[in-house]
Amino acid sequence: MINENTLPGTDAGELSGFAALGITGALLKATNAAGFTDPKPIQAQAIPPQLEGRDIFGIAQTGSGKTAAFALPILSKIIALGTKRRPKTARALILAPTRELAVQIEEMIKLLAKGAHVSTALVLGGVSRFSQVKKIAPGVDILIATPGRLTDLVREGDLVLADTKWLVLDEGDRMLDMGFINDVKRIARATAPDRQTVLFSATMPAEIAELAKGLLKNPIRVEVAPHSTAAAEIVQGVVFARTKQKRQVLSTMLADEAMKSVIIFSRTKHGADRVTKDLERDGFKAAVIHGNKSQNARQKALNDFREGSVRILVATDIAARGIDVPGISHVVNFDLPDEAESYVHRIGRTGRNGMDGIAITLCDPSENSKLRQVERIIRTKLPIVADHLGSPDPQRNPAEKNERFEPANDRNDRNGRRDGRRPGGQNNGKKRFGDKPAFAGERKPEGAKPFKGNNKRRFGGKRPAARAA
Ligand code: AMP
Repeated sequence: MINENTLPGTDAGELSGFAALGITGALLKATNAAGFTDPKPIQAQAIPPQLEGRDIFGIAQTGSGKTAAFALPILSKIIALGTKRRPKTARALILAPTRELAVQIEEMIKLLAKGAHVSTALVLGGVSRFSQVKKIAPGVDILIATPGRLTDLVREGDLVLADTKWLVLDEGDRMLDMGFINDVKRIARATAPDRQTVLFSATMPAEIAELAKGLLKNPIRVEVAPHSTAAAEIVQGVVFARTKQKRQVLSTMLADEAMKSVIIFSRTKHGADRVTKDLERDGFKAAVIHGNKSQNARQKALNDFREGSVRILVATDIAARGIDVPGISHVVNFDLPDEAESYVHRIGRTGRNGMDGIAITLCDPSENSKLRQVERIIRTKLPIVADHLGSPDPQRNPAEKNERFEPANDRNDRNGRRDGRRPGGQNNGKKRFGDKPAFAGERKPEGAKPFKGNNKRRFGGKRPAARAA
């Protein structure tokens, strides 16, 4: 019989699942009750060294099981040590770049800690500060926070981090994107010097490698998915359409009932609002989630989508990071992301848990270079689902068209065009691609501050750090 209190490493040969990794007692029970019986690869790699006290540098995306990978060892240690909290302190601190991710992390921790006496609290921007201060006043075991509000509470003396012996930085690359890196460094400096630190990031920009060097002591490096390659079960394709055609293309696509649960990505908050309004005008009910929405509005949108009362969620990259909604059938990229790596995150919202997923990208000619960058990163040329431009890219082979999509137009019929324009001649592909400024119609990326000064200041001055959440 398996002894629930078996120590990690002893008798591991007789144990299986999470018990073999060193998870015991009430924690093991709750983990199994949550339906987690077989550890995911990131969990198998990261849990044993953390239980031994090692720092972790993990390359893993949302969906890999990374939350339980860092939460289980922390819970295990906190449970073993018993209740030892001082007022206004947190024994463990988990930093997340977005409110949604922080909320999901807390939910997961509560699920895994069911039956154990572990307290958790959330510290987030956009919601009442008072209730957060009240919750941490007696001290908490695990605090999950976004860096901005946390910094405020520390600065004002409502939270002391000197007792914080476990620090997790989740989605490090997103923290970087959102301008949180300096806050993160400051926060880390305020925690206990002998703390254990875990850093997870989906991608590995140089700044993250640098951050890891500064914060982690002799870390174990764990990695699950190969860097920036899309999951194999997601069928991907591109639709070429001018920005002004995209609304109609999208509405035509959404009329297909096979699109049961769809997340539509927009590069900007303004764009997300516009897409949502246009969809509503075209008779579709859609929820929207982005950084300008209140915490309550974001949570409601997410709940409506998760429960299926709306089948369409429009989101920006930043707001959607960390969203884990099972059963998303389609991802539509209304536009291409600024960073090619975000494409991998976007399409990773579908095709989860072995289910099929379809990802369709709408591409205006001005976005061609971004499309090429995406294709370089995923090491695949996206098959063309439809081309509404009448200017087929000569480098693309029509045979690449993916049979699993219903083409909205026959891009190969160069003479029988449906939009009435003549092929070739004065309007040949190259000319049309070049006849508009590359950034015409582009809008501010999410997080950028509105410009209020004169042009001289704008182009000569310093760009403010992007900041959201
Ligand atoms: P995460 O990457 O932490 O956001 O986790 C992604 C999803 O995997 C979540 O919906 C978890 O509920 C689920 N999950 C995590 N670990 C396991 C496991 N060992 N077995 C089954 N599902 C899991």
